[in-house]
Amino acid sequence: MADAGLTPATDVAATPSPAFTENVTPAGGKDGLIACISCGASEVTYNAAKGMFRCAFCRHEWADVKLDDAMGLSHGIGELTGTTLSSNAMDIASDEALVTMKCTGCGAEVVVNTDNTLQARCHWCKHTLSINNRIGNGAVPDGILPFTITKQQAMASISEFAGKRKTFQHPEFTASFKPENIMGVYMPYMTVDGNISAKLDGVGETLTKTVRREKQPTIYHARQFKVGRTLDLHIDDLIVETSSDKVDIHSDTSTNNIINAVLPFDVKNIARFDANFLGTEYTSERRDMDVKHAESYAVQHFMTIARGAVQSSVSGYDRGVRWDSEHVNVKGTRWTAVLLPVWLYGFVETKKGKQITHYIAVNGRNGYVMGSIPINTKKARTVCWIVTIVVSLITWPMALGVVLFG
Ligand SMILES: [Zn+2]
Ligand SMILES: [Zn+2]
Repeated sequence: MADAGLTPATDVAATPSPAFTENVTPAGGKDGLIACISCGASEVTYNAAKGMFRCAFCRHEWADVKLDDAMGLSHGIGELTGTTLSSNAMDIASDEALVTMKCTGCGAEVVVNTDNTLQARCHWCKHTLSINNRIGNGAVPDGILPFTITKQQAMASISEFAGKRKTFQHPEFTASFKPENIMGVYMPYMTVDGNISAKLDGVGETLTKTVRREKQPTIYHARQFKVGRTLDLHIDDLIVETSSDKVDIHSDTSTNNIINAVLPFDVKNIARFDANFLGTEYTSERRDMDVKHAESYAVQHFMTIARGAVQSSVSGYDRGVRWDSEHVNVKGTRWTAVLLPVWLYGFVETKKGKQITHYIAVNGRNGYVMGSIPINTKKARTVCWIVTIVVSLITWPMALGVVLFG
């Protein structure tokens, strides 16, 4: 009856595909100086509420392009075979962050540091230059989800978040807390669609009889069944990190895994990338991971989704099911490179000579907030002791009870 002896084996087998199919990303606004078609100015702002770009001078407006419609990203998941990459999700060919552009306004050379932005102002003629289409270093995505949560809203969220956690806060954090230092950052991710099949095999148990005995352990009688499930799944828009220092969780140097805790995002509203979404207010982080590096994370998520999907079909086993083997066969995947909006507040704590960066993150679409706040360890330790003592007082008599009557 006991479950001992067998350890569940997870066998995650992705089908490697040597080649890939390109899902061509529609061409964006031209690179360099984008002049307003109406007046020729290059000052463009984006109005997230209306989904429109607007010329700051003549107020001419034009709409953004939804990537999902333009590339058919919600369709044909069941027909996917091998790896399909959109144009900007292809492998990174160069590590060079600095891109030099020739200003079409005056002919001067303008350097753009694509580690943080995809726009720059020409120092000479003051026109704004944009990079909207694929460059070798992975900085330009296919799509972008514009910020809808304003800086004011994000500042209010983190103030409330920090305010609720005042008790153990590190005094240095409390003293230096300036919500206005929050920054709007577009973070690199990939959205993945998966055409997968999964096979799970294990043992399920149902309870048949319970025998309660005086001063003796209760005996449970259960029946065991071999349980197997196979299923085909079409997974739409899984979100995977493509910034390597965000994927590896180095909790001793930073707490930026917080950023993943503010998922999800309404990815169906992603627009074709345009550098004007960044404007002067936001920065962007450059993608440094290719699909082959992000693939294993996606496959793990596929397995988790498959396990969840079979759950309702095994609810009849009232003592549960133990999966001894799990296989996922990835028939096809489709990848799109995107930038997602996150408000970030950082605080550097020096602890035993080591620097740890704590982050509070706010989802730039729905305002969901999550964060790590450095604590005053001395104060927290005192409280820990008190809790331990109280808990011990409660648990000891119960432990005695078990010894005497169990
Ligand atoms: Zn104009
Ligand atoms: Zn110029």
